[in-house]
Amino acid sequence: MAIALPKQIKIGAHTYNVSFPHVFCDNHMGVGNKDFCEIKVAAGFDGKEYPGTVVLSTFIHEILHQIDLLFALGLFAHDGSVEDESKINALAESVTQMVLDNGWLPKEWREKDEADERLGMAKPIT
Ligand SMILES: [Zn+2]
Repeated sequence: MAIALPKQIKIGAHTYNVSFPHVFCDNHMGVGNKDFCEIKVAAGFDGKEYPGTVVLSTFIHEILHQIDLLFALGLFAHDGSVEDESKINALAESVTQMVLDNGWLPKEWREKDEADERLGMAKPIT
C-alpha cells in the first residue's frame, strides 16, 4: 500500500474517523457519513490494490461530499447519480493533482518514501 491515510480528519467543527483500509462487501471505493462523522476508504477490491493516487482521490472525493453537506453549499445532489458523481470526481481529481504536483501531501500520509517515485509525487517544499 503506497499511502497511509490519517485515522482522523477535521472537517468544519467535527472530527471524522477515517476507516482505511476499509473492506466493503462490494466494489465501493469510499463512503462518508455526516451524522456519524466517518469516512471509509477501500485500499482495493477483488484481491487487487488501488494505486495510491486513486486512494487519495477517493479520500478527497469523500471529503468534498462532507464539506458540501456540512456547510449546506448545495454544490452537489449527493444522490449517487452518474452526473453528480462525475462532478465530484472532476473536482477531487483536480484537487488530488494539485496536492501531489505541489508536494502538499503530508509526510505522515505516506507509508514509504519510495512511494513518492511510484506515485510520481513532487518532493515536498522545504
Ligand atoms: Zn461520491
